[in-house]
Amino acid sequence: SAMKKINLTENLQSTISIAKTKFNEKAANFNFECPDELYVECYPGQLNQAILNVLINATQAIDYAGRIEMSLIEFEEEVQISIKDDGCGIAENNKEKIFDPFYTTKPIGTGTGLGLSITHKIICEVHQGKIEVESEPNKGAKFIISIPKVISL
Ligand code: ADP
Ligand code: MG
Repeated sequence: SAMKKINLTENLQSTISIAKTKFNEKAANFNFECPDELYVECYPGQLNQAILNVLINATQAIDYAGRIEMSLIEFEEEVQISIKDDGCGIAENNKEKIFDPFYTTKPIGTGTGLGLSITHKIICEVHQGKIEVESEPNKGAKFIISIPKVISL
């Protein structure tokens, strides 16, 4: 897929619409705060995949009728996409493992452990961005993704 300058708000709305069936299964309370338009250079298909992985994890982490809050914020040179849930959270000593390929805490047959390693590659390598996680076990997790508005070659 090619790099394009696109309205990220619009692109994320289509990611969310794919995640909607998962939200509905869990009766998730989902909210997305974003500007009307925010133009960035990115690989739209890959970025969708990266964000979808995080949204699906959030849906799997929450209890029935739990909450997922997503936001898109513009800074001078970068944009920040945050996805916060009120689910099971991540133990302190597991935080560094979650981006490793095949690391999963989910029952066999549920998780492949590949989602976040793919997301990490798409955000950090393909988009020259970063991904951080904040979590308190039993209170939830927040993934903070930053990508530059312009990708330097
Ligand atoms: P999978 O979802 O297949 O387990 P991922 O790479 O997507 O693989 O995630 C790896 C692990 O990170 C998960 O098994 C889980 O332990 C942890 N994790 C990811 N997102 C969350 C979240 N929102 N809340 C709690 N734990 C999470
Ligand atoms: Mg996953």
